[in-house]
Amino acid sequence: MQYDVIIVGAGPAGLTAGIYVARRKLNPLILSKNLGGQAILATSIENYPGFKNIKGIKLIKRCEKQARKFGVEIIYSEVKKIKEKDGIFLVKANDKEFEGKAVILAFGKIPRSLNVPGEERLTGKGISYCATCDLPLFKNKVIAVVGGGNSALEAALDGSRIAKKVYLVHRREKFRGFEDLVERVKRKENIKFVLNSVVKKFNGDEILKTAVVENTKTGEKKELEIEGVFIEIGYETKTDWIKDFVKLDEYGQIVVNWRCETFYPNSDKIRPGVFAAGDVTSVPFKQITVAVGEGCKAALQASAYLRGNNPHTLIEWGKYSGMLNNLNVK
Ligand code: NAP
Repeated sequence: MQYDVIIVGAGPAGLTAGIYVARRKLNPLILSKNLGGQAILATSIENYPGFKNIKGIKLIKRCEKQARKFGVEIIYSEVKKIKEKDGIFLVKANDKEFEGKAVILAFGKIPRSLNVPGEERLTGKGISYCATCDLPLFKNKVIAVVGGGNSALEAALDGSRIAKKVYLVHRREKFRGFEDLVERVKRKENIKFVLNSVVKKFNGDEILKTAVVENTKTGEKKELEIEGVFIEIGYETKTDWIKDFVKLDEYGQIVVNWRCETFYPNSDKIRPGVFAAGDVTSVPFKQITVAVGEGCKAALQASAYLRGNNPHTLIEWGKYSGMLNNLNVK
């Protein structure tokens, strides 16, 4: 079976793209390793319009349900390769190959690791990258959270309600996360700040026992006795597999223009039929709201491409306010 649009990724960008493609009466397939990307891990989202406060998992499940309602097919399978043959895209996911007339790349980012001794060996044995998933395992225990962004601050706050004590290890003095979150963290008595400090090593035979941290200003090292650690230091793109297919920037992100179009590798030539959206792209501000908007744009652009109404070949979009509606796209 041939799909009109194959969307790689089922996070906010991919699911939104699916909804928009389906509503334009085109046939979309979403292929994704998992549901929700990093958004599903957010404990509490307070900046998504229409919701005062919503859990990431709840928001994403709603998006998935909505996509399915409009007829989007979703297959949970990891895409390993994309090739183009005679203007058709062959997308290989695990052992199956799917055909699409256009592709939207929206496969987000993966959690960044510290790359220190003991980390890989003890992952799943006390070391976790998902506080939302694993915090309940550490009731009344001593844990650490590494990082200084919103994810780390949220993990520390949630951890303080479950664990006995939480060390918050951050490499600088100032936090990157929202100020109100920082204030809430500061008010918690069982959160101990370990600032200007980096983790050098994790110790433990079968399970995690300690983390060795070094003060970057004094060089002093100390060993924190912990049973769990949450590494919440952001995300990185995993785009190596696609580097010969589309152009990447110096951070490995897919370069897109403002219409979500991609380019051939090392070139400024637009790659027709291939679009990208969300955190995997060079668009700044990695926010769910931004990903949703970009997913919508990519879907509308892909639809216009498939209908032969590629708007920027007809008209200069910047000067045009009516957008697709006025282009008589059916
Ligand atoms: P982030 O904002 O990129 O912060 C990563 C943190 O980890 C930074 O404090 C950084 O330190 C530190 N870090 C990075 N690499 C490190 C390393 N190798 N060793 C030690 N520390 C390291 O990532 P995030 O907190 O995961 O958030 C990602 C995005 O999601 C952000 O845009 C965030 O606002 C958003 N988010 C929103 C919510 C919400 O709205 N409720 C919740 C979670 C996340 P430096 O500060 O020194 O660079």
